[in-house]
Amino acid sequence: MADEERTMAGNFIHDIIDKDIENGKYSHEITTRFPPEPNGYLHIGHAKSICLNFGTAKKYGGFCNLRYDDTNPVSEDEEFVDSIENDVRWLGFEWHSRNFASDYFPRMYECCETLIKKGLAYADEQTGDQIRDTRGTLTEPGKESPWRDRPWEESLQIFHDMRDGKYADGEMVIRAKIDMASPNMNMRDPIIYRVLHAHHQHVGDKWCVYPMYDFAHPLEDAIEGITHSLCTMEFEDHRPFYNWLLEALEWPEAPQQIEFAKLNLSNTIMSKRNIKKLVTEGLVEGWDDPRLCTIAGIRRRGYTPEAIRAFCDAIGVAKANSQIGMDKLEFFVRDDLKDKVESRMVILHPLKVTITNYPEGQTEMLTIENSATVPEMGSREVPFSGEIWVDRDDFMEIPAKKYFRLYPGNEVRLKGAYFITCNEVIKDENGEVVELKCTYDPATRSGSGFEGRKVKGTIHWVDAKTAVDVPVRQYGYLAYPNEETGKNEFDPNSRTDLIVKAEPALKDAKAGERFQFFRCGYYIADTVLSKPGEPVFNQIVDLKSSWKK
Ligand code: ATP
Ligand code: MG
Repeated sequence: MADEERTMAGNFIHDIIDKDIENGKYSHEITTRFPPEPNGYLHIGHAKSICLNFGTAKKYGGFCNLRYDDTNPVSEDEEFVDSIENDVRWLGFEWHSRNFASDYFPRMYECCETLIKKGLAYADEQTGDQIRDTRGTLTEPGKESPWRDRPWEESLQIFHDMRDGKYADGEMVIRAKIDMASPNMNMRDPIIYRVLHAHHQHVGDKWCVYPMYDFAHPLEDAIEGITHSLCTMEFEDHRPFYNWLLEALEWPEAPQQIEFAKLNLSNTIMSKRNIKKLVTEGLVEGWDDPRLCTIAGIRRRGYTPEAIRAFCDAIGVAKANSQIGMDKLEFFVRDDLKDKVESRMVILHPLKVTITNYPEGQTEMLTIENSATVPEMGSREVPFSGEIWVDRDDFMEIPAKKYFRLYPGNEVRLKGAYFITCNEVIKDENGEVVELKCTYDPATRSGSGFEGRKVKGTIHWVDAKTAVDVPVRQYGYLAYPNEETGKNEFDPNSRTDLIVKAEPALKDAKAGERFQFFRCGYYIADTVLSKPGEPVFNQIVDLKSSWKK
């Protein structure tokens, strides 16, 4: 299946859209939007929303806008705007138009005037505390404001005065006039405009009145001709006001809000606020720390956009909240990389092996295929001599049951080279194994057609004389649930730095280049820390998969 076809194939939202098309509900193309607040970097949860919104527009031959939901003047930043665009493009999507919600402030202001003139909004001079205290509870109705029935002309004059800077922050608000007894708290005369003397990142000091989110969002959608406004479940209770507002304004072909469940991923920390905390406290390297599930972190970690899209497709879109295991995301990363990247031999935890019967001073070149699954990837020459590194995990002095790798007296195959037999174990004064003395059988050279005997274990190796030392960063999960609270908490041991022994060619890896380290996992030359001739590798994902498609 082509990538585009795979993305978000079939979900309840598309069923709704199919019906709307059948009924001719909209006279123009299906139009969606991705509306981030530019107050942080995007994360994998946003990727789900991006894939859904852009994927839906693509599926129906319509449009998807990128819209900065920047109606709140505080905590927004140019840095975040740039990172968002970069991330959306990296995921493989292009927006139809890029908009700032703040550019609609004049239109929103007019809409508020219209409501006031229709007697559907009023200026309330109660304090914030009074408004909160008279909202009522889930079981009791709220109390109507004493200013609720003031003449609309008076409210309109006050609204103009608010805009003209005649009121201080918190002195006056505009509220929609709906129903203080509504069972839905959001319908109890919600505040729609407030006074705020604050500098705005995009429109500067032009305004000292700002619309509230619930008032602004439906208008942003309507102004852009959005047909289906896809948002997460917590906005379900806000939908009645969304619809009330657009009906009150008699908006033609009004957009409809449809809610879906947020992506909730195990073993990570997801919300922007909490990620920001890790960044400012210096617990991670920045917004792009490879352990984070920010798009920037995932990209630096070496995950691919193809893997993210396939993952978002597989988890689907539903109304019910659930937690997805990190292993599921990792499955799609492996699945995407397995036939894409070349293999190299690298020893993560080196143990010296001396081949006692190998001709002294000799080095030979062995041909090893670059991929076990894709012959087109060709092969490379790897040096081999009488001193090699193997991984400590490939040796056991007293072998466990069914252990087929190196142990005293056992013979194993060296990948692409010869059979060797372990004869002697050398230990240091602390009793730690520091070297193995082995012999090799020259007749067993790989590719020679040797059929004398079989061995059960194949291990990888690196020639000691030509090996290069390379820094590698191994990653565990960023966070684990606290046993009492169940909340994910940062694991300070989530990164382990190693210096590994690698075949010489790995030194030339370019920043961003990915490899499979044979029998170890997938790795990428870090785009931030690597220098020409001095790559630093991030572990992308290990090789095992506990989750089956
Ligand atoms: P956070 O709570 O992580 O800071 P947010 O919802 O405040 O996220 P916004 O910038 O407001 O972030 O969100 C942009 C869009 O992404 C919204 O439409 C929002 O519903 C969607 N979104 C955010 N988090 C998720 C998630 N975990 N799963 C799916 N969609 C999400
Ligand atoms: Mg938000």
